[in-house]
Amino acid sequence: MCPICGIEPETTFHIMWNCPSARDVWSVGNAKFQKNVYAGPDFLQVVDGMLRKCSGVEFQQFVGVARRIWHRRNEFVHGGSFIHPSYVLKQALQLSEDFNNLLMTSQESSTPVCSGMLKWQPPPSGWYKVNWDAGIDRRHGRLGLGALIRDSQGNLVAAKSLSHSGLLDPTSAKALAALMAIKLCKAWGFHNLKMESDAKVLVDAVNSTEVDDSSKGHLVADIKLCLVGLQAWKLVYIPCKINWAAHALASLAMTENLDSEWGYVPPDCIGGILEADRIGSVSSDLF
Ligand SMILES: [Zn+2]
Repeated sequence: MCPICGIEPETTFHIMWNCPSARDVWSVGNAKFQKNVYAGPDFLQVVDGMLRKCSGVEFQQFVGVARRIWHRRNEFVHGGSFIHPSYVLKQALQLSEDFNNLLMTSQESSTPVCSGMLKWQPPPSGWYKVNWDAGIDRRHGRLGLGALIRDSQGNLVAAKSLSHSGLLDPTSAKALAALMAIKLCKAWGFHNLKMESDAKVLVDAVNSTEVDDSSKGHLVADIKLCLVGLQAWKLVYIPCKINWAAHALASLAMTENLDSEWGYVPPDCIGGILEADRIGSVSSDLF
């Protein structure tokens, strides 16, 4: 039976839509949530109906309210208090607003957007773009590190994969990959670097003038030390979806225990990605 009303069996349709406790929440929401009558028994029918009737923002709110109704049910079942319907709605609307703000902030602060999709960007001429990533194989206790350097045409100039025993948290593993990448640049004589990492915490720590006293602090200090002596460098955060090439090199190191270095001719596993990045990219002399 429904743990809240005790009247009907607790189906998804009942608890999300038809239970008096759910009706109380829907009735204080958007008019489109209030007026629709569904016979059930499938809650997906309700979702489908809303998808047709609501705008994008309204549907987002509908999903937020549904999510909060389900959470409220769980909180109640596990001994928590039962939140007032108008407060459930308020929380859902706040969730929706936070999500939209986050989307806007990440679009403003991260990478250039091209045709609505995030793209890898080549560096200006005279600069080198450096990407790195790390993979963690918890089962075998190994890390895979990958790094690559590309020129202003998007062509590979050097790449490296390294398999490493032991386990680290993702940020520390990526810090190790960063160290490997910067040492690779120095070994090849590249000293003007635009570096990108999908580890936001690491990017912020390296860019900060404060001493990092977290568990990865020693790695951050090593990276800062390694950057000394370069002519110019810039480190920015990028979403992992445009860090595919580095991700593939890290995966290669992790799955095949492979330690290898390449110059100019890329390994098969990233050939296609490099080409896709190159075709999709636009000149970014302003970057
Ligand atoms: Zn009920």
